[in-house]
Amino acid sequence: MNYKIFIYTLFLVFIYTINGDEKNNNSELVFIYNANSGIINSLIDFCHKVISPETYECNLCALTYGVFAKKEIWLDYIKSLPINSIFTYKDKILDKKLDNVIFPAIFLKKNDRFIQIISSLELNKFDSLQDLIIVLNSRIKENGIMKKEEKIITDEEWKNKLTSSEYHILREKGTDRPFTGKYDQFFEDGLYRCAGCDEELFISETKYNSGCGWPAFYESLPNKVEESEDNSFGMKRIEITCKNCGGHLGHVFNDGPKPTGLRYCINSTSLDFEPENDND
Ligand SMILES: [Zn+2]
Repeated sequence: MNYKIFIYTLFLVFIYTINGDEKNNNSELVFIYNANSGIINSLIDFCHKVISPETYECNLCALTYGVFAKKEIWLDYIKSLPINSIFTYKDKILDKKLDNVIFPAIFLKKNDRFIQIISSLELNKFDSLQDLIIVLNSRIKENGIMKKEEKIITDEEWKNKLTSSEYHILREKGTDRPFTGKYDQFFEDGLYRCAGCDEELFISETKYNSGCGWPAFYESLPNKVEESEDNSFGMKRIEITCKNCGGHLGHVFNDGPKPTGLRYCINSTSLDFEPENDND
């Protein structure tokens, strides 16, 4: 048995919980795999995935498989959540209320009540781990689970701290009118910070002239922005927020230049610029 199979078997044999510091104990995320527990089932399940990935039924396994090998991004994401996560199998779930549920599925368990936040139908449509994280993140927020930083500052405090246009863009998800923002046609060397909390978000080396009417970057600084699904105005877009304060920044699209192919389309009002020579 090679190293990867061994680790994966361990992963499947035990129900495991990922805990972090200071998590909220009234709620937890419950990930239920479409597989039965036990070492034989685990091996069959594993072989099935390797031999015939296209017919593999549990897309939750397929997406998150490799967590110990290369997908630290999944583990980091789970650890960053303000609630605990439990990973288990359908045959371990004894709750009668879940008898008619099709697995895999993801639930939010709040005071012993199971709320299905991602169904098997949705899970099986995701093509990548990133898709799963984006949707999961939005559903968690919709259910009132906020990251620690997001609830420290109240709405009233934001109103006092920000100008009215900053408040509108950052806290009410507004949008600058195109071609009007102070950083749209602005290409000096330096650092762009969040206008809400001063966190470093983008550097001028990754800024380019997209012609779209808003400042565009092909990359954010690592781990500084968060993506969520945004289905407002009848469009399917990916919203970008500041990971530190939750402030709305803009959206990310797949029509950017190399090397990432991404276009982070950001409101000037969400940014503060710091010229490079200030850092000397
Ligand atoms: Zn911020």
